[in-house]
Amino acid sequence: MIQLILKPGKESSLKRFHPWVFSGAIAKSSGNAHEGELVEVYSHEKEFLAIGHYQKSSIAVRILTFKEEPIKQAFWNKRITSAIAYRKQLGLINNSETNCYRLIHGEGDNLPGLIIDFYNGVAVMQMHSVGMYIHREYIIKALQTVIGSELKAVYNKSATTLPFKAETDNLDGLLWGDATNTEVLEYGIKFIIDWEKGQKTGFFLDQRENRKLVEYYSKGKRVLNTFCYTGGFSVYALRGGATEVVSVDSSARAIELTNEAVELNFPNNTKHTAITVDAFDYLQNIKDKFDVIILDPPAFAKHNNVLNNALQGYKRLNMRAIEQIAPGGILFTFSCSQVVSKEEFRKSVFAAAANTGRSVRIIQQVSQPSDHPINIYHPESEYLKGLILQVE
Ligand code: SAH
Repeated sequence: MIQLILKPGKESSLKRFHPWVFSGAIAKSSGNAHEGELVEVYSHEKEFLAIGHYQKSSIAVRILTFKEEPIKQAFWNKRITSAIAYRKQLGLINNSETNCYRLIHGEGDNLPGLIIDFYNGVAVMQMHSVGMYIHREYIIKALQTVIGSELKAVYNKSATTLPFKAETDNLDGLLWGDATNTEVLEYGIKFIIDWEKGQKTGFFLDQRENRKLVEYYSKGKRVLNTFCYTGGFSVYALRGGATEVVSVDSSARAIELTNEAVELNFPNNTKHTAITVDAFDYLQNIKDKFDVIILDPPAFAKHNNVLNNALQGYKRLNMRAIEQIAPGGILFTFSCSQVVSKEEFRKSVFAAAANTGRSVRIIQQVSQPSDHPINIYHPESEYLKGLILQVE
């Protein structure tokens, strides 16, 4: 295995189990590592630190283990076994109300670069590093061994997530088994998951607990769900007893999916409307029309260099909603940008509120659910931030 030697002092973050090595920390290499290759990382004093996947980018190594151990089938079985045991502990396995959950959450499950979402027997893999792609056969085998007959298929959804400079034969498609889209249950609500054409792996599992909160606050209320995608929040609001639900998304396909999800759970209902429109435009003129508003936009910042624009975007969006929500209204506002910290997000919502002059209380601060675990040594794993606000 190629050995990378770090610059003096650069071992400290690895000693605190942070699972990334930045390219600037590397002093020399025993050879020319290829994209995705396993490498060993050593301190300047030649002390063994970790083994990981090499990548030609600013994150040069994503660590798989801090022990000297072979990265063979037994390693992958161990990691997947641990991930499943954890979800069993959470009550997500063999759960009669919910049969979809995140099975592997990258660094949170000590597998940086790998996401696996489990949809009622179908594992949808999203690989963010070539190293994970190279090891996919081990991963599939581990899933088959650990999950057994409950596993029906494994689908690869990495065409847009692998670094495009990498030369792989990667294409989206079935890696094993047989399945087209499938119906899942989340807290007893039905959704059809289209992992082939959908965004990410087909569904935003990370909002499960927050959808439940929307359900709780929707009784007798007029609810606006902006950036609705598959309409998750809308269906929960209807089940919670909303008198009217309006779903908004700029994508016509998302509006179709939302209408399908509503129809699947509440056939022929007359309380729901879905509109293909830019959310910023729609929010311009809604004064006092809604008692509950949900703002769940896509990541406004994917990189640090656009952080300021992103914060401005959150401020503008939240200002429109806070200005116009009906008195006593409840605002659910989210950011899923990993580069925006909880504090920065809260500050931009604070600035938005201050501009409106309305009295605003924080009911609850929310985050991602337990099947998207945050690795304590990798604070960057905490990417979803949400505030539930009451606007007097
Ligand atoms: N709330 C959703 C996930 C949102 S994903 C859920 O719980 O599943 C973000 C969505 O925002 C996408 O569906 C995308 O089409 C939509 N979108 C992006 N820009 C938009 C805009 N300016 N106006 C309205 N929708 C937008």
